Amino acid sequence: MAARTDQTTDPRLQEDLLQARRGTAFFARKLNELTDAELDGGTRLAGWTRRHVVAHVGYNARALARLIEWAATGVETPMYSSPEARNEEINFGAMLSPIALRHLFDHSAVHLNVEWRDLPAPAWQHEVRTAQGRVVPATETVWMRIREVWIHAVDLDNGATFADIPGSVLERLLTDITGAWHTRGTDNGLRINATGTTTGTDLTFGDTSAENPTLITGPLPAVVQWAAGRGTSCVTATGPGRAGAHRTVPAAPKWI
Ligand code: ZN
Repeated sequence: MAARTDQTTDPRLQEDLLQARRGTAFFARKLNELTDAELDGGTRLAGWTRRHVVAHVGYNARALARLIEWAATGVETPMYSSPEARNEEINFGAMLSPIALRHLFDHSAVHLNVEWRDLPAPAWQHEVRTAQGRVVPATETVWMRIREVWIHAVDLDNGATFADIPGSVLERLLTDITGAWHTRGTDNGLRINATGTTTGTDLTFGDTSAENPTLITGPLPAVVQWAAGRGTSCVTATGPGRAGAHRTVPAAPKWI
């Protein structure tokens, strides 16, 4: 008989699973508030309607479930067969009837949750490969889902904001995003200062060694919104050059 509780006893992973479930519930709430007609509306992602966002979040859960099946069985099953197949799938999903689209989201979320729940504790450390080609332990799928559901709930453009995202998730996002910039070398001279963090102390990210950086400052949710490429509201930029002189906020480097 399948277990009804998570097999892992790792408190950090249990906390992440809780955060993913909370984020999924939050996305579901923002989706359920929309009428069928409103699914046709635009989002905060250029070129994507709400239908595209919902389809993408649903297929993302299925893709992550494939990684968990891979971790469980050792049989390689990629997230998507190709980037083109991923995009075709989203375009197909966006054309589903409203009820089918809602079912896609609900069923895929339940399926992923069951895969997580039933994964034996040791298998969480088995390595799988993400769509970006990163080799990661199966535990990483939980963080990948946390990012997706929280950010795309805001993308639905139905009243959710980055301030709705838990502070711990925002801080981890900023660590992730600035880490990706650093790996690509696109963070040169770019320093980020976030106020209103979970510890009450400002946090600094990005190129902390630059002597004369472009400094992006703002409350944590606004800074993460900017870093994720979703607008410049409530952030300010100064430098380089004349100390303290304000300038137009530059676009954040590409993240994913
Ligand atoms: Zn996404």
